[in-house]
Amino acid sequence: MMDLRYCILGMAFLAPVYGNPQMLALREEAPVSLETLPPDGLSAANLFGKGVSLTYDDFILLPAHIDFAVDEVSLETSLTRNIRLKLPFVSSPMDTVTEAKMAISMALLGGIGIVHYNNTIEEQAEIVRSVKRFENGFILEPFVLSPSHTVAEMAQVIKQVGFSGFPITDNGKLHGKLLGIATKRDIDFVSDPSKTLQEAMTKNVITASEGTSLEEARKILIQSKKSLLPIINKRGELVALISRKDMRQSKIFPLASKGKDMHLLVGAAVGTRQDDRKRVDALAAAGVDVLVIDSAQGDSSFQIEMIRYIKSRYPQIDVIGGNVVTVAQAKNLIDAGADGLRVGMGSGSICITQEMMAVGRGQATGIYQVAKFAHQHGVPIIADGGIRNSGHILRALSLGADMVMMGSMLAGSEEAPGDYFLQEGVRVKRYRGMGSLEAMAKNAAQRYLNDTSAIKIPQGVSGTVIDKGSIRTQLPFLAQAVKHGMQDIGVSSLKQLAEARESGSLRFEWRTVAAQGEGKVHSIHTYENPIGY
Ligand code: 5GP
Repeated sequence: MMDLRYCILGMAFLAPVYGNPQMLALREEAPVSLETLPPDGLSAANLFGKGVSLTYDDFILLPAHIDFAVDEVSLETSLTRNIRLKLPFVSSPMDTVTEAKMAISMALLGGIGIVHYNNTIEEQAEIVRSVKRFENGFILEPFVLSPSHTVAEMAQVIKQVGFSGFPITDNGKLHGKLLGIATKRDIDFVSDPSKTLQEAMTKNVITASEGTSLEEARKILIQSKKSLLPIINKRGELVALISRKDMRQSKIFPLASKGKDMHLLVGAAVGTRQDDRKRVDALAAAGVDVLVIDSAQGDSSFQIEMIRYIKSRYPQIDVIGGNVVTVAQAKNLIDAGADGLRVGMGSGSICITQEMMAVGRGQATGIYQVAKFAHQHGVPIIADGGIRNSGHILRALSLGADMVMMGSMLAGSEEAPGDYFLQEGVRVKRYRGMGSLEAMAKNAAQRYLNDTSAIKIPQGVSGTVIDKGSIRTQLPFLAQAVKHGMQDIGVSSLKQLAEARESGSLRFEWRTVAAQGEGKVHSIHTYENPIGY
């Protein structure tokens, strides 16, 4: 029989457990399962239900269970009602961000570029045409010399451009009559540097005719053992060039954004003035795939009329309206026929709208509210402005953005217009807001309905951004980082992400300023930034 002393001791130990109602509850409840766990964090609806303007850094996503590899994550998404893309990245229609080079690389990598309109109608249409003409492997804007250039001049050009073979045409330009080719070998042993290329060039040149496929051209180049293959039209005029070196390096772009005709997709921005209808007509003729109506405050009768004009005249071209940040603004543009919406007012890196006008919205709140409404109407949205890193991209997607539009992230790349220069020892490129006084001095004032006023109110600044290298490295890097983030929250596609947000299983939390500080590098004296910006 048990000693009475032990019984009394045992009862003394157990008394706090049996006497404590919480402990009692624990003892009596069924085993804890995922479904019965008390809610941790907030749903998106809770996060945004408080009437506060939030932006990306104000919240964090909580991790969830992972049962797939990062390579299984797909970022496929919709730009508009009718255009699907493999990556959710768009380059801003700004004159320091998107011209032909940027638009081509964006589309090759799986996103899309929107060509700015701070230029003449003809200039913008020509950029669109050059993107549509682009075929991977063909150099469509080769450096061309004329027969009157001297050997000394050619040697100088070689130093500047870094390659050493040039087609020679009668007028020294593309589309001139092809006369020959001059390579470094032709001028290496010429003793008189004032001799012209007319004498020095190789005149008997192997060519291919316009329409030759890349595969056929590759064979001709290999058989000829030459370093360059000019492509000429029926009149003998130079239309493109293929180089052996490029062939060796030529890459395959499995994610490329292409239309039914297999040409790269490209968008272009237009304004809302009567004159812009001519721009729309020229861009449509150039083969543009999507038009973006570029306005800082998109909910205007001018924009509604422009959407209706485009939709009635060019039903095959999708129209993205904007910018909007409220449901009421979005409704007006969707009712007018917009196939996509651009969301953001005053969130861009170069924007001073919220300071000058006191109007706008925290970018995270704007995205969540507009996306919830627009998706009910089948209209995708673009989170425009304020993206500073891959974490911001995933935050935007998690709130309902289908795409993110980036300006400053891409402006310092090789593909952005403009030259690099040194500023206090750092290699930089110019980047300016389209509402900066500098950009408006050219043409861009209409984005801010500012173009007829004597006093111009700036809504942007001009400055510089640091060298980011090529977007051909940067974009895949961003995509991979976003995929890792999606894996951490347990979703392998943007569809799953939307379902998790809507069901409330995707969990968020506010971040205090201290929590934001904790989430960054801290407490170390110096460090190397692995992403360089
Ligand atoms: P970022 O990616 O640099 O943060 O923002 C780029 C976006 O800022 C553009 O896509 C465009 O919506 C917006 N933007 C461009 N220029 C200006 C400007 O001068 N003022 C304002 N308010 N927004 C601008």
